[in-house]
Amino acid sequence: MVRNFVSRIRSLKREKNAVILAHNYVRGEIQNIADFVGDSLELARCAMETDSDVIVFCGVDFMAETASILNPDKKVLIPDLGSICPMAQMLAREDLIEAKEAYHGADVVLYINTLADCKALADCVCTSANAPEVVEAMKSDTVIFGPDLNLARFVEKRTSKKIIPVPEYGLCPTHHQISADDVLVGKKKHPGAEVVVHPECVLEVQEMADCIASTSGMVRYCSISDVDEFLIGTEIGLIYRLERELPEKQFYPVSESAVCPQMKMHTLKKVEMALELERPIVAVQREIGDAAREAIERMLRLS
Ligand code: SF4
Repeated sequence: MVRNFVSRIRSLKREKNAVILAHNYVRGEIQNIADFVGDSLELARCAMETDSDVIVFCGVDFMAETASILNPDKKVLIPDLGSICPMAQMLAREDLIEAKEAYHGADVVLYINTLADCKALADCVCTSANAPEVVEAMKSDTVIFGPDLNLARFVEKRTSKKIIPVPEYGLCPTHHQISADDVLVGKKKHPGAEVVVHPECVLEVQEMADCIASTSGMVRYCSISDVDEFLIGTEIGLIYRLERELPEKQFYPVSESAVCPQMKMHTLKKVEMALELERPIVAVQREIGDAAREAIERMLRLS
């Protein structure tokens, strides 16, 4: 059955000149058929550089939107329209307008995990791979930053800027539930393992880590570290990629329940259907897309 889907997807891809981009958190079966698997920054770069006519984006809504913003003349498909990031939903355009009025003159840096109408109001976008670098490059001493409070704290510790988080308590439910106790239990079971976590984790967990990085930064760290056992503090889909790329090393999730249900919605069957029907299409209103593209391209120039 799986083999049938895979061969059908391959032939549809050729027929339609399509590329499949997948985030590190999607199911292993999707990572296997993707042309590229990576984090938000890498996927945005891929989306910008591809010469395919169709992009099948196996990730959540804001990622597919970003691909569409960077390629307004291409067809961007998302296999399951229900793949909506709850963190991105936490920031409303109105909150951002209010913050801009309250902190007049402060630059606005938004995590890529935001919807296009918010990105259109930003001076620059960032990802977890480049957030401190992007924020430090802003002209103002105070920077409005959203929506993830944990990432905001990570950035504030690494830059000279005063950070105003918007909204006050934005978070990723998948990362926020990884606790310091989970790390302690993991370290007890695997005392020789290094702790590698994502900056969307709470500060207490970040402070216990040997490395804090974006998902692709985590892969790089594990590949160059002398250690061969790691406790991984992020969505568990990354473990599939780590085990595939570094089979000689051992990886343990800090929390087995760190699962993003929205990322798991894409299946081989849905990818095949999306390619066959060329639906569902993700498109962004031209005016909003043009404004958001400036903020995304500024990030790509800065990092
Ligand atoms: S892991 Fe968190 S931030 Fe990433 S898509 Fe899922 S809910 Fe959103």
